[in-house]
Amino acid sequence: MAEPYTTVVGLEVHVQLLTKTKLFCGCLNRFGLPPNTATCPVCLGLPGSLPVMNRRAFDLALRAALALNCEIAPFTKWDRKNYFYPDLPKNYQISQYDLPFSRDGFLEINVHPDPKKGHTPKRIGIIRAHLEEDAGKLVHDETGRGGDSRVDLNRTGTPLLEIVSQPHLNSPEEAVAYLEEVRLMMRELGVSDCEMQEGSLRCDANVNVHVPRPDGSVAATPLVEIKNLNSFRAVGRAIKHEAQRQYEQFQKDPANYRIDKRAKTTAGWDDAKGRTEVQRHKEEAADYRYFPDPDLVPVTVTVERIDAVRAEMGELPSQQRQRLQTQHGLSAYDAGVLTAKGRTMVAYFEGVTAALGDAKAASNRISDLIFPTLAERGEEIADFPVPAKAFAEFVKATASVGQDPRRKAFAHVLAHGTDAAAAMAALGIKTDFDEAALRAAVATAVAANPKVVADYKAGKVQAANKIKGEVMKANKGAPNDVVQRLMEEELAKA
Ligand SMILES: [Zn+2]
Repeated sequence: MAEPYTTVVGLEVHVQLLTKTKLFCGCLNRFGLPPNTATCPVCLGLPGSLPVMNRRAFDLALRAALALNCEIAPFTKWDRKNYFYPDLPKNYQISQYDLPFSRDGFLEINVHPDPKKGHTPKRIGIIRAHLEEDAGKLVHDETGRGGDSRVDLNRTGTPLLEIVSQPHLNSPEEAVAYLEEVRLMMRELGVSDCEMQEGSLRCDANVNVHVPRPDGSVAATPLVEIKNLNSFRAVGRAIKHEAQRQYEQFQKDPANYRIDKRAKTTAGWDDAKGRTEVQRHKEEAADYRYFPDPDLVPVTVTVERIDAVRAEMGELPSQQRQRLQTQHGLSAYDAGVLTAKGRTMVAYFEGVTAALGDAKAASNRISDLIFPTLAERGEEIADFPVPAKAFAEFVKATASVGQDPRRKAFAHVLAHGTDAAAAMAALGIKTDFDEAALRAAVATAVAANPKVVADYKAGKVQAANKIKGEVMKANKGAPNDVVQRLMEEELAKA
């Protein structure tokens, strides 16, 4: 049942850029080095040291912002965000305040990537994307005996891209879909590896709820920013919990628990207890005493540079999804599934399709044979031992074999490095029916059911089940998917 309120979420996502070195010095930007071994006077903030901008980091950020359909500012500068914390030895963070390098973009997400619910694209506005340096990391004693806290400054000064969305996300599922799209895009563009466990993708969620009043107006609850959500699952759960908590709070005190009467607060998410814990009132921008960094020159971005960055960007996931539908005739769902696996998978699919001459069959067989195999082996398609052309041969050779024996044959091929014919011979799999005869039976059933054909052509796809049922009944043991395929082909001809 739908909630009696609308959940309103904006996400602030930090992605760590895949550069060799840090944003303003030559120290290595790499996860997992021994503590405090990737530091220098610049990132330690020692007196007399001067930062120099990493051009590669700026180009990666440009690439991300262009992919997010942002406007690129021709002129951008660096600001100091002043605060004290033990993981920030300079006592300020170099960030971008009033002149971020990009703003006003959007990202399209799939709200229901589910074949039954269909595919509803939704545009999520991007307020801005800016570059900043990261802080170090405090490692606390977690034994509960009040031991030391230690600081590791390897992360200090590594480049972060902060992407701030509009509050256009209206459910935990939409928030997760947005994050998935950001991660896919950043990975495909080589901007970031987006490993949440290593902290190269971090997310804060700004949440409130809108409650309709009987008079038609809408009450909005105060904003709560849930900090440092460290898994997609946590993002979904935290938003769901926080929205419900705010709604209950509003019901207790509708006159005062309102956005215009309470300041924004921050909260943490306790994953074990499954609840948000409100921590403090949020600092206002004025508390940070932002001012332009006098050690860094502003950056000008020319049209030529934007064009150059755009030229090396390649096809975006949204473009790929569209192309798989228009060029190969895949459903939105199938196109979405393939795209979500990355460019290499899409290229593999296109290789199989070219050799097989049937995009739908290529997509289906990749889904039911290759996806589970890769998941089982923990492999990427780039490492898969069966080339696209050989896989197409396998699909052809097993076209008239049922799903289950086909899976067994494929496992045999992988285990023994043979081909489909050898695998089927070894496993005793027979194509124990005559495809031509089966096709004739299908054609007869199609000819005998003009009403079904008319309904099918009018979009009632299920109407065809009648034909399939008749054929299956008269041809016991015929593989379901082969009958389905023959029927679709004969219906297309009818
Ligand atoms: Zn350094």
